[in-house]
Amino acid sequence: PLSALQDPSLLKTDALIDGAWIAGTARFDVTDPATGRHLADVALLGAAEAGAAIAAARAAWPAWRAKTAKERGAILMKWFQLLNQHADDLARIMTAEQGKPLAEARGEVIYGASFLEWFAEEGKRVYGETIPSTDANKRFLVIKQPIGVCAAITPWNFPIAMITRKVAPALAAGCPVIIKPAEQTPLSALACAELALRAGMPAGVLNVITSDSDGSIAIGDVLCASDTVRHLSFTGSTEVGRILMKQCAPTVKKLSLELGGNAPFIVFDDADLDSAVEGAMISKYRNAGQTCVCANRLYVQDGVYDRFVEKLAAKVAGIQVGNGFEAGVNQGPMIDGQALAKVESHVADAVGKGARVVVGGARQGERFFTPTVLADVTADMLCAREETFGPVAPVFRFTTEADAIEQANATEFGLAAYFYSRDIGRIFRVGEALESGMVGVNTGLISVAEVPFGGVKQSGLGREGSRHGIEDYVEMKYLCLGDI
Ligand code: ADP
Repeated sequence: PLSALQDPSLLKTDALIDGAWIAGTARFDVTDPATGRHLADVALLGAAEAGAAIAAARAAWPAWRAKTAKERGAILMKWFQLLNQHADDLARIMTAEQGKPLAEARGEVIYGASFLEWFAEEGKRVYGETIPSTDANKRFLVIKQPIGVCAAITPWNFPIAMITRKVAPALAAGCPVIIKPAEQTPLSALACAELALRAGMPAGVLNVITSDSDGSIAIGDVLCASDTVRHLSFTGSTEVGRILMKQCAPTVKKLSLELGGNAPFIVFDDADLDSAVEGAMISKYRNAGQTCVCANRLYVQDGVYDRFVEKLAAKVAGIQVGNGFEAGVNQGPMIDGQALAKVESHVADAVGKGARVVVGGARQGERFFTPTVLADVTADMLCAREETFGPVAPVFRFTTEADAIEQANATEFGLAAYFYSRDIGRIFRVGEALESGMVGVNTGLISVAEVPFGGVKQSGLGREGSRHGIEDYVEMKYLCLGDI
C-alpha cells in the first residue's frame, strides 16, 4: 500500500530534531495492524536525543516568539494547505500503520488539518486586558505571553489529529514543540513534519522524536524532568496520565491531559429511534470503537429497549470488517493483540454474567473483532466500568430519567456523553446533570476544531480546540504601572 504514494518523499523514517532528519543508533519496527506485515524501520531515539530536542527547541524559541502572530499564522496556514493537498497520501500512510478504513483516515487528515487553520487565526486574538485602576497613580494591564518549550505525547488512535490539536495552538501562541508520537503510528507524524518543513517551519520550532514503547518511557522521563519544558500535553490512558502528572510535579509543569472515557449513550422513550441508531453507529463503531469519545455504555429506556436493540443489531450486521484499503470496508483491525484480548474479555465477562449476544460476539482471526451488540447488560459487568475500546455495544435497560442519570454518572470518567430525546425540558435537565466535559444531544458526532474538547473527573485537565485551546500555551502577566 505504501508503494502507491503519489509523493514517496512523505514516507519519512528518521526523526526530526533542529530541522535535521536524525537516524539514531537503532531502529524499531512499525507494522500494519491489518496484516501484521512490516512497514518500516523507524529511528529509535532515547533520553540523549530528547535532551537534544529540548535544547533545539529552547534555541529556536526567541526568534519564534519574536515573530508576529500573523507571521506564525501564515506558516500554519501553509501547513494546513499542504495537509489538504496531500490528504490522499497521508490517509494511505495512516491506514497502513493504524488500520482505519481509507475514507475514515482521509476524514481524519481533513479534521486534523482544521486545527492548523483554526489556530493560525486564533493566534491573532490572544488579547490582554486593562483593568480599571483603584489608585489614581497606577494603571493595571494584563498581557499574555507564550509559555515556552512545549512537549506533546500522543496516541495511536488519531495519529494526525491528536498532534495538530496540541501543536497548532502551541505554535500559534509562539511556543516551540517537541512531539513524541505513539510507537504504533510514527509515520503519520513524520509525514506531517515533512510538510511542516515545506511550509517554512524554522529549524527547532517543531521536533518529532520517535521511539518504541520502552524508549517512549525514557523520553517521557526526560521531557517531564526538564526545567526548560514548561508545558506537557498528553492524550492517552488515564493510567499513563497519572504517571506523567506525578513526573511533572517536581518542575511544576503546566499540564493538559486528555485521558480515558467511558461515555454513556442514553436513549429515552421519546427519542427519534432511527436517529438514535444512526448516532450509536457513528459514536460506537467509528475507528473500530477505538476512540476516547466512543459510546461505551448504551442505556435504553424500557419502552423502546427491544425495538432499539433490534434496529441497532440490523445495522451492525451490515458493517463490513476487513483491511482498510479494501473498497467497502468500514471497520478495520484492532490496533494490536492486547486490544483484541481486552474486547474479548469484556464480552466473555458479560456473557458469563447473563448478557445476550444479539450480533457478533467473537474475534475474526488474529486481528479483527466482529461488530457486536450485547443485550440485557447489567451494572456488575466489566463493560459497565471499564473502557472497552472496541466495537462492542453493551445495551443496559433503565426505567426513569433519574435512574439513567445516576447510572450514566457512576464512573470516575467524564469525557463525552450522548443522549437522545425530543423533550426540550428533558434536554436541559439531562444535559446539565451529566458529569462530562462534552454532551452530544441527538447526535453521535461532536468533535470539530471550533469547540472545547476535554473531560472532567479522571478524564483529564484542560480543553483543546476552540478559542480556549490556546490558553494553556500562554501565561498571563500582570503589569502594574505606577507614578502616573
Ligand atoms: P494507549 O492505551 O492509547 O496506547 P498509552 O497511554 O499507553 O495509550 O500511550 C499513549 C502515549 O503515551 C504513547 O505515545 C506512548 O508511547 C506514551 N507513553 C506510554 N507510557 C509512557 C510513559 N510512562 N511515559 C511517557 N510516555 C508514555
